[in-house]
Amino acid sequence: MLKGLMQDRPLLISSLIEHAATCHPRGEIVSRTSEGPIHRCTYADIQRRSKQVAQALTALGVQPGERVATLAWNGYRHMELYYGVSGMGAVLHTINPRLFPEQIEYIANHAEDQYLFFDLSFVPLLERLAGRLSSVRGFIVMTDRAHLPECSIPGLLCYEDLIAGQTGEYAWPQFDETAASSLCYTSGTTGNPKGVLYSHRSSVLHSWAACAVDGLALGAGETALLVVPMFHVNAWGMPYAGAMSGVRLVMPGPALDGKSVYDLMRDEKVTLALGVPTVWLMLLQHVDAAGLEPKEELCLRRVVIGGSSAPRAMSECFETRFGAFVVHAWGMTEMSPVGTVCNLLPKHAGCSLEQRLAIQEKQGRAVYGVDMTIVDDDGAPLPRDGRSAGHLLVRGPWIASAYFRDEGSVLDADGFFDTGDVATIDADGYMQITDRSKDVIKSGGEWISSIALENAAIAHPAVAEAAVIGAPHPKWQERPLLIIVRKPAQELTREAMLQFLAGRVAAWWLPDDVAFVEELPHTATGKLHKLKLRERFKDYRLPGA
Ligand code: AMP
Repeated sequence: MLKGLMQDRPLLISSLIEHAATCHPRGEIVSRTSEGPIHRCTYADIQRRSKQVAQALTALGVQPGERVATLAWNGYRHMELYYGVSGMGAVLHTINPRLFPEQIEYIANHAEDQYLFFDLSFVPLLERLAGRLSSVRGFIVMTDRAHLPECSIPGLLCYEDLIAGQTGEYAWPQFDETAASSLCYTSGTTGNPKGVLYSHRSSVLHSWAACAVDGLALGAGETALLVVPMFHVNAWGMPYAGAMSGVRLVMPGPALDGKSVYDLMRDEKVTLALGVPTVWLMLLQHVDAAGLEPKEELCLRRVVIGGSSAPRAMSECFETRFGAFVVHAWGMTEMSPVGTVCNLLPKHAGCSLEQRLAIQEKQGRAVYGVDMTIVDDDGAPLPRDGRSAGHLLVRGPWIASAYFRDEGSVLDADGFFDTGDVATIDADGYMQITDRSKDVIKSGGEWISSIALENAAIAHPAVAEAAVIGAPHPKWQERPLLIIVRKPAQELTREAMLQFLAGRVAAWWLPDDVAFVEELPHTATGKLHKLKLRERFKDYRLPGA
């Protein structure tokens, strides 16, 4: 083979912040801090301070490949750690603080974290946990001397003091791009969490895909609100892709309630916001309750929704009340996470809003780099007809091949990873998730999509949230049970709900019963916790069952 004669420069995460500091030095990073006030800095500041972080870690004796953990909200110091830790060759391990303390303990010990950086909010958590984190040599609270907490955490260091002693005169080391850069554990609902170990190369390639027009279409003209947390799949890669494209980043810190998010959107003239449906539900409820006029007050143009399915009713609300286009996206921790993005094609230009919303309900088309297929239970490929639903398999350079410190590869003979999702793909390549494979409702040998039923139910004006699970049935094996949280002060009966659904879903999909609850259980990443729900309703008898 004749080798090409192009420069062999490694794709390193440090190159992203170097680019931003050179080409977008005054690009702003706005953070709502744990201490309270809004903090403003630039990509140039982040570059300098992340170098100070790298120097400080070197002085602490952190070696390349060692893990350095964070328990932190979205903010500028967290971003400095993204670049400082990975840039010096260590591995940034972002821990989800919403996990149970036992899971955090398991994860930190499994990862053998050497140092742990944390936000002020997590002082009580670490007071309880610190003694059980056997590999951790030091705890660094991400604040300044004035806000240093009185606490019992052993060997406590102060972030600002730690980096203040460093010059920032530092040349990023150059090394193999396949080196590990960061680590994120999946929040599986069963068994122990599993570590997904990203590389510099996978992270940089993923950023390119995120920036692309048919990805998230990022550029320096955009002000992006990262509601999606930096402790969950690297905030969908935005701290990297943002630096690559010079996006002005707005970080909400710990304040994710509807009012705080809305106020930040308004005050910072946010044009693009990214988050999971549960946080948008809180935002929409706030807008309703406070009687706001988002279209008049906000500059929001696009909302990226992923992590769970974006119901049509939510996309419609953003479109009509905010004047914002919902970009539905799908991915997973094992995929860095972006797999598909729902952008429109030229042929959709003349579509009515109704027709367009039907497309936006789909999770979208694969970005370049993600090779996607659906197969039946025997592994045979299914047609791309928009109707045949099968197991969704993926492969590509930012998709996991194995879990950290776990047995062997997770790929099949053709190099595909089974996402655990069930989906259809249509002739234009739009993929639609119908379920998690363990959540599909198997009724008389046919599959009923719990997601489709939930999305139909949530369109009812009195419904705040909906979940559908399969309940045992003597004749059909399983039948759908719809579980509803009503909006405050709203009336809704079982009969009215079923009547609303009739005509909106196939007759044989209609739930056999409707249960009303005060709230639904969620996982640490804001998804419906179906396992818990099935446990809660395990003795439930459907009418006629
Ligand atoms: P996680 O690894 O925690 O990010 O979870 C990944 C899983 O979330 C996927 O395998 C899907 O089951 C689900 N998911 C992510 N995005 C979407 C979406 N847009 N619609 C439906 N499910 C989604």
